[in-house]
Amino acid sequence: MKYDAVVVGGGPAGLICSKIMAEQGCKVLLVEMRKKIAKMHRADGEMIHNDPGLRGDTVALEDGQIKFTVHGFSVPYRGPRYDLYHYIVESPSGYRVHLANFHPPIGIVISREELLRGMEKEALDAGVEIRCETMALQAENTSQGARVNVKKKDGSTEWIEARYIVAADGMASRIVRTSFPIIKPGGIFGSELAAAGEEAGTQIEMANTDWPYKHTFWKCVGKVFKSSVTYCWPTAKRNIYVLADTKKATEYFISESKFAKYFRNANRIRALGWPRVEPINPLWYPLNGNILAVGEAALGSMETLYQGAILMGWAAGKVLARAINNGVHVSRYLDDYITVMRKHEIFRHPNPFDVYMEWGPLISSFTKIFEDDEIDALFKVVDGEVIEGGLDPTRQNKYMWIAIFDKKDQLEKIKPGLLNKIRAIMEKLNKELGTNLRWNV
Ligand SMILES: Cc1cc2nc3c(=O)[nH]c(=O)nc-3n(C[C@H](O)[C@H](O)[C@H](O)COP(=O)(O)OP(=O)(O)OC[C@H]3O[C@@H](n4cnc5c(N)ncnc54)[C@H](O)[C@@H]3O)c2cc1C
Repeated sequence: MKYDAVVVGGGPAGLICSKIMAEQGCKVLLVEMRKKIAKMHRADGEMIHNDPGLRGDTVALEDGQIKFTVHGFSVPYRGPRYDLYHYIVESPSGYRVHLANFHPPIGIVISREELLRGMEKEALDAGVEIRCETMALQAENTSQGARVNVKKKDGSTEWIEARYIVAADGMASRIVRTSFPIIKPGGIFGSELAAAGEEAGTQIEMANTDWPYKHTFWKCVGKVFKSSVTYCWPTAKRNIYVLADTKKATEYFISESKFAKYFRNANRIRALGWPRVEPINPLWYPLNGNILAVGEAALGSMETLYQGAILMGWAAGKVLARAINNGVHVSRYLDDYITVMRKHEIFRHPNPFDVYMEWGPLISSFTKIFEDDEIDALFKVVDGEVIEGGLDPTRQNKYMWIAIFDKKDQLEKIKPGLLNKIRAIMEKLNKELGTNLRWNV
C-alpha cells in the first residue's frame, strides 16, 4: 500500500494532522478540492477567540507562532494581526451593550490565507504529498484499511487505498455523511425561536471606510436593520468586513442605513458567501473502522474554530502516527484524541448545539422576539457600562444578559411589562428545550 493515510481536506485540521504524521515517518497524501489551499473561498471571521481555556487550550500569538500553551505545540503564523478589545452590540437607537477585555485582548484578527500558507509549507516540508483540485466523493473500509474515491481535475475518478482515511473536509463533510451514522440536531434547532443558520449571508470586505469603531467586534440588532444581526469588524489589514443575514441586508447596511455615511468613500475588495449547511450532531465516537473524522467534519459546527480544528488535527495526527509506527490499530490510542475532542464545550449539553443557544434565542432571535423599542430599553439599562467578557460563542450572550438582569428594576420602569415577556420566553425555552435559564445566575 502506497500510503499510510489519505487526509481529505486542506483546512487547519487536515494540514496539521498530515504534517504530524509525516514528521513521524508516515506516508501521507492530502487531497483538497480547491485549486489553492491558501485561498479564502468563503466567509470567515478570521479571528482567534482569545478566551483562556477555550476549546481546552489557551492560545497566544507571538514570535511568528500561534502557541497552544496548554498542549505545548504551535503553528506558524507570520501574517498581519489586529487586536480586538471591545465587543459591542448596538440597538436601533444606538444604545450599547459593551463587553471588553484588555489583558489579553478578546480576539486577534489574523489572515486565514497566511495561516493556511504557513501550515501548508510545514506539511510539504515534512514530506506530505498534496494534490489540489481533487475532490473526495466517498470513503469505505477495506480488509487492509480503507479507500477513498476521488474525482480529479480532468473529471476522471480513482480509488486511493491507505491504512487510514482522515475526514478533515469541514462542516459539510461528504466523508462523514457517507461513512458515519449521522444524527440531526434536536433541541433549539427544532424551536421556532432559533434563528441561526437560516439564510446564506454575504460578507463584504471594504477598504478606505470611515468606520469609527476601532479594535471592536461590533454588531447591531433590530428590525430597522433588515437582518437578525449585522456584524462589522476589522480585517488584519485594517479593512472592514460587513456581514448580515442576506446579501440584500448587507447592501442595505452599506448603502442606506444610518451607518452608510461611513462607507461613502469606501471601495469593495471582495464578497464572500456564508456557507449554508444543514447541521448534524457532533460524532461522539469519531472513528468508523479505519476512517477517522477530525475538525469541523467531526463536530459539524463552524464553532469548532481554528483552535478546535488545529487541536483536533494535532491530537489525531499523533495517535495515528503512533498506531502506524507500532503496527497496532488506532482504536488502541484513540482515547488520547477523544479526550482532546471532548474538551470542546459542545459536548457539555445533551442537545449539543444548545450550548451556543442557551442564552442565544434571546439575542440571535432578537428581531423575532422583540420590537425595536424593546431592544432599545434592554440596552439602555446597560448603556455606558463596560462589562468584562470575551468572544467565547458559548458565553457571550450570557455575560450580556447577566448585566441586563442586574438592572431589572430600572428596566421595569423604562418599559413596564418587558420583564414579564422575557420571563415567559425563558419559561417556554426551559419547558420545551430543557434549558435552565434563570434571572440570577
Ligand atoms: C462564516 C464563518 C466564520 C468563521 N469565523 C471564524 C473565526 O472568526 N474564528 C475562528 O476561529 N473560526 C471561524 N470559523 C470557523 C473556522 O473557519 C473553522 O472552524 C475551521 O476552519 C475548521 O477547520 P477544518 O480544517 O476542520 O475545516 P475547513 O477549514 O472547512 O477545511 C476543510 C477543507 O476541506 C476541503 N474539502 C471539503 N470537502 C472536500 C472534499 N469532498 N474533497 C476534498 N476536499 C474537500 C475544503 O475545501 C477545505 O479546504 C468561521 C466559519 C465560518 C463558516
